Amino acid sequence: MNERVYDVIIIGAGAAGLAAGRKLYDAGKDILIIESRDRIGGRIHTTYDFNDIPTELGAEFIHGENAVTHELVKQAGLHVIPVDRYGKLRWAQYSRPALPVSELPPQLRATITGLFMHYQALPKDAPIPDISLAQYLRQKGWDEEALKVADILLAQTCCAPLDSLSCADLIREMRADHAGKQEFRIKEGYGELLKWYSRDLPMLLNTAVRDVNWGDDGVTVVTTREDYRARRCIITVPVSILARGTIRFNPPLSSEKQQAIGAFRTEAATKLIYRFREPFWDSDLTFMCHTGLAARWWTPGYGREGVAVIACFATAEKARILDEQEENRALTWGLTELNWLLGMGERDLRKLAIDSRRVSWAFDAYARGGYAHLPPGQAAARPVLARPEHDTLFFAGEATAYDSNPQTVHGAIESGWRAASECGV
Ligand SMILES: Cc1cc2nc3c(=O)[nH]c(=O)nc-3n(C[C@H](O)[C@H](O)[C@H](O)COP(=O)(O)OP(=O)(O)OC[C@H]3O[C@@H](n4cnc5c(N)ncnc54)[C@H](O)[C@@H]3O)c2cc1C
Repeated sequence: MNERVYDVIIIGAGAAGLAAGRKLYDAGKDILIIESRDRIGGRIHTTYDFNDIPTELGAEFIHGENAVTHELVKQAGLHVIPVDRYGKLRWAQYSRPALPVSELPPQLRATITGLFMHYQALPKDAPIPDISLAQYLRQKGWDEEALKVADILLAQTCCAPLDSLSCADLIREMRADHAGKQEFRIKEGYGELLKWYSRDLPMLLNTAVRDVNWGDDGVTVVTTREDYRARRCIITVPVSILARGTIRFNPPLSSEKQQAIGAFRTEAATKLIYRFREPFWDSDLTFMCHTGLAARWWTPGYGREGVAVIACFATAEKARILDEQEENRALTWGLTELNWLLGMGERDLRKLAIDSRRVSWAFDAYARGGYAHLPPGQAAARPVLARPEHDTLFFAGEATAYDSNPQTVHGAIESGWRAASECGV
């Protein structure tokens, strides 16, 4: 047992844990961040060895021009590259090449714009009792073919099946949203931002927490290394990890908290990333979709000269299917669909690819999926997940971001700041 008694121990060095740690440390608190991985960042993971530019294996975009991340990027002396994802959206039907929405057949164009319109009207319609997004769209008259389009446009982003997304939770987020609609990448990579943000923070890597023994007099955190004590503890591990019981709480968390943890669902999230000799797509390509398996594609090098990297991001069932296959097979399937979308005809993209990688977050022992969502009837679980237990245990992380955008980096950061302020700074 380490005899030192910290003011606050923070479990997890992802965006939420680092944000909480930064606030507390800068306010003069004696803190320790405990992280199971050999790196910081959690579901942010930038690699610098795949290409000349940073490649994001996890979070990639800053969602919104007002997201708090921008201020940190500025302070760190880094830069953002704007990406017009939806304005430049290209869509493909079956195995045909992807076209800008304005050039699509009128019926498909009307489906895409109509679905967006109904989605945006959700707060006004506010269905009671709570129903799934799929049910809501059916009520609006959309048929099953249109729902396949909605899955790609609306549900894949949320890392959830369309019929498992609570309208009430989506509405809560829309009302709390202060981030805006524009999208950006960090030129130097999210990794550089976190390196700067975590400077000097007292931290243990390669140290997994097993037990949290807690009471009114504080906590003892039992780890794979040593036991550590503190007056307070902020828990920022993904809710999927809490649900698995990987960390034992003694005494157990309140039944309300346990129910809230059990209400969340976390689905698979998988990226297929390819590097080619040269970009054989036009420099205006930002985002393209179709209703296939490798359904959503984007160009990580958008806004830079000559970057020949393209990535597919799939979630929920599509990601599970990609994960179930042997890696090479999944990557080859991705190339087949990419060939359709880019209209490459007989060209064998396998011969042009220099490198490729599948990144399956469902296989990641400390994430067990992408990011969490709430099914219909469970929207109340989010604030309960965020609520402290007595004055000892505090909770942060993307899933707790009830007053911001869950499922995002900036939501996770804000949740970390909230937990720090609950600890008195
Ligand atoms: C593929 C993918 C793409 C995404 N794209 C975007 C995007 O473009 N834009 C965006 O804003 N967001 C995106 N997100 C979501 C974003 O990454 C998350 O919302 C955010 O990074 C979560 O931060 P967090 O601190 O809540 O959790 P995490 O980053 O998961 O941090 C929790 C930490 O706890 C650690 N931990 C777990 N168990 C233990 C234990 N027992 N002991 C000690 N430590 C433990 C983990 O290792 C981890 O480091 C994406 C996520 C994924 C997976």
